[in-house]
Amino acid sequence: TDIPALLLSRIRDVADHPEPGVMFKDITPLLADPAAFTALSDALAQIAGRTGATKIVGLEARGFILGAPAAVRAGLGFIPVRKAGKLPGATLSQAYDLEYGSAEIEVHAEDLTAADRVLVIDDVLATGGTAEASVQLIRRAGADVAGLAVLMELGFLGGRARVEPALAGAPLEAL
Ligand code: 5GP
Repeated sequence: TDIPALLLSRIRDVADHPEPGVMFKDITPLLADPAAFTALSDALAQIAGRTGATKIVGLEARGFILGAPAAVRAGLGFIPVRKAGKLPGATLSQAYDLEYGSAEIEVHAEDLTAADRVLVIDDVLATGGTAEASVQLIRRAGADVAGLAVLMELGFLGGRARVEPALAGAPLEAL
């Protein structure tokens, strides 16, 4: 079976969300389809295996939904990177610029060590700001980055060029 075609067929375009002029890629039809969701989880777990990852980091919030089953399938632990203020323990944080304003993400400092090789998972790579900040955060925690895996890359937004310097040769795989 053609996995990319199956996955793409379960993504819905929603016009003018979350604001006018934006065509939002809605992954909820894919999540609701067990064949597609299983194929996605397996494909992400295979990337984890191929890249020698020892942990999966998922980016809030849809990166949690995709990263957690991939981690279980790959036999790896799952680490959440969350928006600032959500994690209860001691955190490392990373601020980054948005089109208007800025945002901040955090990880539990004790969750990543120099022994770790992390595969970062999110649903969509858009401008690349979120992924770039996550890779920087993981490196600052002392861990190595095995790669970045996303369901979908919106190529016209140039996210790959933004995140590649931080990846420093680690692969960016878009299914
Ligand atoms: P970026 O930081 O690359 O501009 O935005 C990526 C983040 O925004 C990801 O965490 C992703 O979940 C979310 N995002 C941006 N555009 C879309 C979209 O069209 N569909 C979905 N599902 N998420 C999006």
